[in-house]
Amino acid sequence: MNTATKSGILSFLYNNFSANACLMVTKLNCPTCKKEIEYTEEYPFRPFCSERCKLIDLGEWADEQHKIKGSSIYDDILSKDLEDPDL
Ligand SMILES: [Zn+2]
Repeated sequence: MNTATKSGILSFLYNNFSANACLMVTKLNCPTCKKEIEYTEEYPFRPFCSERCKLIDLGEWADEQHKIKGSSIYDDILSKDLEDPDL
């Protein structure tokens, strides 16, 4: 009896969430250009707004930028350490 009740609740929750998912459109911002898009079939490259933004984020072009940013942070930390050797 307990098992039947639990599965009944689970299926109720599942159906309810599915219905909500159909009614509510999740909005999010494209990680690349920050443009607001909807999490729907309209944007097959979500969370990116377009294939271009997806390629920019995943591609070598962006990868080089990340590397430059990362190395500059390390350079800052290293140079600060070298400036204060007595601490
Ligand atoms: Zn975008």
